[in-house]
Amino acid sequence: MNALLLATTNRHKLDEFRAIFSHLPFDLLSLADIQLDMDVEETGTTFLENAELKAHAYAQVSGMLSLADDSGLEIDALGGAPGVYSARFMGVDTSYEERFRAILEQLQGLPLEQRTARFRSVISLAEPSGYARSVEGVIEGVIADAPRGTYGFGYDPIFLLPALGKTTAELSPEHKNRISHRGLAAAQARQLLENWPLSPSSKE
Ligand code: IMP
Repeated sequence: MNALLLATTNRHKLDEFRAIFSHLPFDLLSLADIQLDMDVEETGTTFLENAELKAHAYAQVSGMLSLADDSGLEIDALGGAPGVYSARFMGVDTSYEERFRAILEQLQGLPLEQRTARFRSVISLAEPSGYARSVEGVIEGVIADAPRGTYGFGYDPIFLLPALGKTTAELSPEHKNRISHRGLAAAQARQLLENWPLSPSSKE
């Protein structure tokens, strides 16, 4: 069976990817599985640049088809911040509780229609040959008045889905996977992988 390297150091993402790609005819390997202890610096200014540079770097070093993603939260009232800096917002060591406090303070008094935000995820698949394909998923929401929920990770407790009246931290992992930015991007990646290796004509 062909191997697919799930090149993420984030446990939560790894679990989500494993669940979504479980039925594919690929041996799903993590960085830990192949004992590859390599961090790739995210020097890009877009999710696409970062996802591609990571996928290429891991494919080169491992010699395997590699999947990498970059994702984050864009808050319109903050000019799109934290965006590609979501994981490093206010410093890598700052807790999410502190980040929530700072964000909620800046959005204080804003009505729901001005609290719009979205999670965006770009997933890139790269072969050692240098061939790569990327897909994107987005989920729209608003920033809640206060953190709620215990599922998920990162900014989930303050990301509210008005249609459901719930934050993404109040959704079961299965429910979140079905509708999330990463779930939507991963569904497209799964379609690409079902036909991988792509025929020469579709590579053009
Ligand atoms: P990355 O690992 O560089 O892609 O950084 C992604 C960061 O964006 C995470 O560390 C979180 O802060 C945030 N993020 C991305 N996806 C989610 C999600 O599904 N829920 C909550 N936060 C997320």
